[in-house]
Amino acid sequence: MTDAATPPFTTRQVRLRERPVGYPDDSTWETVTEQVPAPGPGELVVRVSHISLDPAMRGWLNDVRSYLPPVGIGEVMRAGATGTVVASEHPAYAVGDAVMGSFGVTEYAVSDGSGVTKMDLDVAAAPTWLGALGMPGMTAYFGLTDVGRVQPGDTVVVSGAAGAVGSVVGQVAKAMGCTVVGIAGGPEKCAWLTSIGFDAAIDYKAENVLKRLREVAPKGIDVFFDNVGGDILDAGLANLRRGARVVICGAIASYNETSLPDGPRRYMSLLVFRATMTGFVVFDYEDRYPEAVEKIAGWIADGSVVARETVVTGGVDAFGSTLLGLFEGTNTGKLVLALEEDGRGVTAG
Ligand code: NAP
Repeated sequence: MTDAATPPFTTRQVRLRERPVGYPDDSTWETVTEQVPAPGPGELVVRVSHISLDPAMRGWLNDVRSYLPPVGIGEVMRAGATGTVVASEHPAYAVGDAVMGSFGVTEYAVSDGSGVTKMDLDVAAAPTWLGALGMPGMTAYFGLTDVGRVQPGDTVVVSGAAGAVGSVVGQVAKAMGCTVVGIAGGPEKCAWLTSIGFDAAIDYKAENVLKRLREVAPKGIDVFFDNVGGDILDAGLANLRRGARVVICGAIASYNETSLPDGPRRYMSLLVFRATMTGFVVFDYEDRYPEAVEKIAGWIADGSVVARETVVTGGVDAFGSTLLGLFEGTNTGKLVLALEEDGRGVTAG
């Protein structure tokens, strides 16, 4: 596609209108049209092609102390995204470069280059750079290896197993010689997990997870990688092996709750099984991302890791409804919004 985009021009962007109580809805967001200025010295302008949808976004809407400040009322919604440089006064970026960064829910973004990295589209298409080769893949890799201290021969159980992080966790653990059990919602997702090499998959919507874990991991769990929290975390805690590592990656089951969860109720298993439970934030590993990208790209290339994305095509105003899909489980693998080809949309990947 030829590049007719030279600023100044307009961009549609999604801003936070009001903080949601419970699930976000139409009143949470507003779509506004803004002028994109020509880049100043040290700046670049990116035409966004794909926007990442992340469960953490729900947390960023709450006015609470966290690992990142909340998105402010009236601010463009924070989001990882990929795109193409369309104008640059930055020495490290040229027009036409395929890049990824925290560009927000917008058609065009002006950036000073902070946190922007170049993507090699010969290695993988843009959606994969938001998934297995992006932040979720980094989360899987460092959560498993560094926090979970996984060893060959371990029994690894992962919840949210058919999602962006979980599907990479399970496959990386298999590539490292572990026995892997996934917990996911519905028969299709469970069938997909076993088709990509998981030793067993438990459908938490239809099965008793605590009992099934006892059957499929009779010696107990060495690494429980939890993305969900609540009853699923309790089921994992009830099935630990001595010296187990419980990795607290997320707790999606509670992100839209308006009161605090009651658990974990089985935490005394940590004492009984001399286990540890450790939370982590992937951004602490930013310096080591290249190491994980190289490893995961290698596993994708040799077929050990299948990178899957659910790509929804739409305008930026489809962001709010697309985000809800994460909490309804409509995605398998990484959920991505591909901006429509309307003269301001997709070029990369
Ligand atoms: P994802 O797994 O691709 O998508 C979310 C999935 O969660 C859905 O597909 C759904 O799958 C499942 N889910 C939704 N509501 C649920 C519920 N009430 N009970 C059980 N499962 C539910 O999302 P992701 O980006 O890979 O993130 C997964 C987790 O990792 C999240 O908790 C996220 O916050 C966390 N995370 C943490 C870090 C970190 O640095 N610590 C970084 C990235 C992500 P089913 O159909 O199977 O229900």
